[in-house]
Amino acid sequence: MRAQTHHGGQWQDAASGATITVKDPYTGEIAGSVPSLGEAEIRAAIAAAEKAFPRWSRTPNRERGVLLRRWLDLIERHKEDLAQLITLENGKPLKEARAEIAYGSGFIELYAEEATRIMGEIIPPNMPGRRLMAEREPIGVCVAITPWNFPMAMLTRKIAPALAAGCTMVCKPASETPLTALALAVLAEEAGIPAGVLSVVTSEPALFGDIVTASSVVRKITFTGSTRVGAILMSASGPTIKRLSLELGGNAPLLVFDDADLDLAIETAMVAKFRNGGQSCIAANRIYVQRGIYEDFLAAFQKRVAALKVGDGFDPETDIGPLISRRAVEKVEAHLDDALAGGARLIAGGKSDGSLLSPATLLRDVAPNALLAREETFGPLAGVIPFGSYEQGIAMANDTPFGLAAYLCSSRQETIARASRDLETGMIGINTGLISTASAPFGGVKQSGIGREGSKHGIDEYLNYKYLCHAGL
Ligand code: NAP
Repeated sequence: MRAQTHHGGQWQDAASGATITVKDPYTGEIAGSVPSLGEAEIRAAIAAAEKAFPRWSRTPNRERGVLLRRWLDLIERHKEDLAQLITLENGKPLKEARAEIAYGSGFIELYAEEATRIMGEIIPPNMPGRRLMAEREPIGVCVAITPWNFPMAMLTRKIAPALAAGCTMVCKPASETPLTALALAVLAEEAGIPAGVLSVVTSEPALFGDIVTASSVVRKITFTGSTRVGAILMSASGPTIKRLSLELGGNAPLLVFDDADLDLAIETAMVAKFRNGGQSCIAANRIYVQRGIYEDFLAAFQKRVAALKVGDGFDPETDIGPLISRRAVEKVEAHLDDALAGGARLIAGGKSDGSLLSPATLLRDVAPNALLAREETFGPLAGVIPFGSYEQGIAMANDTPFGLAAYLCSSRQETIARASRDLETGMIGINTGLISTASAPFGGVKQSGIGREGSKHGIDEYLNYKYLCHAGL
């Protein structure tokens, strides 16, 4: 475990001696501490990225890909240690930590290859004697800010395309989960990624945000986190006109139509709601079930939810680990209380025992305007809302300022095609709750963000076009 930050190729403590304490959310014990860097040190990390940029951006694409591949090989070799670190600081079950590493590694594998496929264009000339070309060049120094819910994958999804494109990057991981990020930096250094190309710094978030948004050296900020902080970064980046990628909050609906295959619908609801303990931006936050299948769905769902085991992430029997913080538990319970006050009925689970373990909980007959249908719950609380017509279901699903993911369960091709068109989200899971993969474009519409991560398109976020007009030929 590395308890220093890594910038400009150097491992350092904060000059002030200030630290950020990292806790194991299951035991509440201290898992480690990392430096809380000050202004001068954050500026030094940006300067190191600026210094490294000319050489890295001119390194042949294939060589950049080879270095990413070496990093991937080291991650693969140390994947069990990394999984343990994720479970230690995030609390998620070890099996989910291992799945996150496989998912997060997929981005490095993809962009190690995509590095060699960054192509420009030859454009038909607009007049004789001219040659028109559009080259692609890296944006420059980038900054990544990531959340705690996927401590590894949210970083690799940004670092891999940035480095493949020829950008250099300064990352600030979430203060709850910086240890995994620093371990990734250790492996990147070991892989031979040059000094300054990738820095991982830890600091007080607003200080970091203020410095990087005001910096004219930083040409792009890529952020995953809440819509609230995304909006702060967007407006603070205005004066320096930065490129932004924003992967923000979701409020995903799951629509189960009368003609759905019941087993598939239950499986979809289980994965979409309870994966990562519900602490996922694409978690099904509102479950709308059509009246014809409502009682059958609830009976089968109740059995599955009641069987979920909440506990220590290191226990192989555990399905759901602790939530990340007391605040997270309080939010889940506020949503539970609000739904009950609005007439919902509790049919599985309930409240926390005072620890950060929040039981898998199921509510039926939730009112459409309940808090849990309007805000991300970010915990293992499922609220089921009945609906009548197709139009009513779609209208309720779209009645939100967010538009990240949606899920739908139906066995009729016509319903699937219609709902896929009508749902206002960036991603849709059709008869599945598991949609994330490095090879597909991930991202939202409306207040869920700007830009896409993953797939061949993810690298475009780190490239500019340079148009060359060659006359006199
Ligand atoms: P958050 O509070 O927005 O924090 C995310 C990151 O931003 C953390 O590193 C945090 O640092 C940092 N931060 C906070 N205030 C900042 C500021 N003023 N300037 C610069 N950085 C700042 O979000 P969270 O609660 O950790 O994560 C949950 C949210 O992320 C949910 O809304 C979820 O939907 C969203 N999410 C979205 C996606 C997606 O792909 N769309 C994926 C995962 C999560 P500290 O940790 O030091 O506070």
